[in-house]
Amino acid sequence: MHFRIFVAVLAALFTLGATLPASAHGGGCRKSSPPGQCCHMEKATGRAHCH
Ligand SMILES: [Zn+2]
Repeated sequence: MHFRIFVAVLAALFTLGATLPASAHGGGCRKSSPPGQCCHMEKATGRAHCH
């Protein structure tokens, strides 16, 4: 029965995909980011923004 492994892999991919937008310009998401959004500090401007 490999269904559980399949679900685990799917969940892992989903988690990785959720972090991809932030990596577009470096840095990770703040832990205080609202659900569905990723807030981080932009070094160029010194300001935090979400998207
Ligand atoms: Zn950004």
